[in-house]
Amino acid sequence: MEISAIEMKKSIRKIYERLDEVTPVDFDCGRLCGEVCCVYDAEDYHNEDLALYLLPGEELMYEGSDEFELYYIDSSEIKYPHSWKGQIYLVKCKNPPKCDRSIRPIQCRTFPLIPHLDKKGEFHLIFDESEFPYKCPIVHDHIKLNEDFIKTTFEIWTMLMANPLVYDLIDMDSRMRDNRKTDYEIVI
Ligand code: SF4
Ligand code: SF4
Repeated sequence: MEISAIEMKKSIRKIYERLDEVTPVDFDCGRLCGEVCCVYDAEDYHNEDLALYLLPGEELMYEGSDEFELYYIDSSEIKYPHSWKGQIYLVKCKNPPKCDRSIRPIQCRTFPLIPHLDKKGEFHLIFDESEFPYKCPIVHDHIKLNEDFIKTTFEIWTMLMANPLVYDLIDMDSRMRDNRKTDYEIVI
């Protein structure tokens, strides 16, 4: 049965609210790095390239938002799993590091953890600095993450992975990490 846009929006809103209850650390980590993950800009990598990919249904949260620019690219134009057909939505933050934090995307909320499936198919959250064009002090300086942040992020990604599209995307990213022989640190 196809899930309605209203139901989808409700379930994304619930995920956002769960993730709002936790933070990676108990202080404003943006002070450590000048909020580099929001405002990174370099000669070869401009902030406007730092678009955030959305998960299925998240695009519904941005209709009419003044603080994010919602746009899409066709799935045939990027390296995405075959199961993703048609439009892949992204948002750009118009005025980083300021944004409407109540609707920032899942990818941003669970940073600096990213989902990974190992070769046996077991699910983990990892740090993989190679995915970022900058150094996140939490990862680089091994700052301890809050346990509730790790636990909630793990639960949310496990739930999201029940969607075959999300599973396929995580699997594709994980196999690419294997092929590149990327070093990463398993957090859970
Ligand atoms: S998550 Fe990392 S890169 Fe982003 S503001 Fe915090 S310390 Fe800086
Ligand atoms: S959504 Fe907000 S917190 Fe996330 S990168 Fe953009 S400006 Fe920063």
